[in-house]
Amino acid sequence: MSSNVLDQFLQHHLDDLKGKGLYNVIDPLESPNGSKIKINGKELINLSSNNYLGLATDERLKEVATKAIEEFGVGAGAVRTINGTLSLHTKLEDTIAKFKHTEAAIAYQSGFNCNMAAISAVMDKNDAILSDELNHASIIDGCRLSKAKIIRFNHSDMDDLRAKAKAAKESGQYNKIMVITDGVFSMDGDVAKLPEIVEIAEEFDLITYVDDAHGSGVLGKGAGTVKHFGLSDKVDFQIGTLSKAIGVVGGYVAGKQELIDWLKVRSRPFLFSTSLPPADIAACIRSLEILMESTELHDRLWENGDYLKKGLKDLGFNIGDSETPITPCIIGDETLTQTFSKRLYEEGVYAKSIVFPTVPQGTGRVRNMPTAAHTKEMLDEAISIYEKVGKELNII
Ligand SMILES: *Cc1c(COP(=O)(O)O)cnc(C)c1O
Repeated sequence: MSSNVLDQFLQHHLDDLKGKGLYNVIDPLESPNGSKIKINGKELINLSSNNYLGLATDERLKEVATKAIEEFGVGAGAVRTINGTLSLHTKLEDTIAKFKHTEAAIAYQSGFNCNMAAISAVMDKNDAILSDELNHASIIDGCRLSKAKIIRFNHSDMDDLRAKAKAAKESGQYNKIMVITDGVFSMDGDVAKLPEIVEIAEEFDLITYVDDAHGSGVLGKGAGTVKHFGLSDKVDFQIGTLSKAIGVVGGYVAGKQELIDWLKVRSRPFLFSTSLPPADIAACIRSLEILMESTELHDRLWENGDYLKKGLKDLGFNIGDSETPITPCIIGDETLTQTFSKRLYEEGVYAKSIVFPTVPQGTGRVRNMPTAAHTKEMLDEAISIYEKVGKELNII
């Protein structure tokens, strides 16, 4: 018999969400997550994936993944510290370190998992963490797990960060203080002010932690936001994901050898959750090699991003102040935003609406993620659909 308490809880909360139109229905793709996708038999131009460089469907990656299955099987068979470390894992970590220009790196099963792992391996209840208010959910959860005091600072507000760092330091209450930020903020496409953050960190002895999930493969000629600012030896923790621009799955920390040595003995998902499977690792290694060999995909991503931005801006849409290919189209009103996204879908563009509470009230938007795999024809078609729907709904 199922629990009545649980049944009542679920029914009440599900009905509540559905009543408010906030229950998210998931549409499964009937195709790879490429530049065009198929949903319910309908072909759509895809402007919603994080597959920035188109590598998720790259033939070169598919080939090495298939070979790795032949050679190593489909599963790693154990956690890393028992005997789930294949020679492939070590090669992946060496490749990540090279890609990030750090002494060493450690790989995890996902970027989310990596934040669960890394923060609490170093920070505890006698410490404090200064956290940008717009940091990703996995950073927030990772901070909570550590039991350190969480001090939020206003988004990218360096005066606020400095004041809070000073107060925390002078209070004498904390053994260690960390500052933690996204490298690229995915809702607006803005970049963290890393030179100032590093300067403040030096002034107040802060540990620095940058989660560059949306910056790797995109900024710094591919190497990420930290490299973009020339700060590779000034940031303690460089976090990344292997699931966005890299196109596969997984997460990592890149940093000093001793930090990585410590994470290998103290970070719980590394010790207690089975490691990445062979096919994924082989594909990640190839993907990183492709990024280090040439900036071709990176350059095409930026070209496409600039093209889409210009197209939407010229039509009169508010595209915010993105500094990356991420192109928000800010509509404002939540209901209108959802209608706009629904009409785009009907006309053949898949671009998800993002509304409160993910972004502040009154700043509802449709977020566009152009990739290196889009052709000019696809972008032109998307822009003309935007024009049609925008005029129809009196947005432009
Ligand atoms: C997407 C994202 C993650 C999660 O990465 P996954 O590999 O998908 O688990 C973590 N941090 C940030 C900042 C992200 O944008």
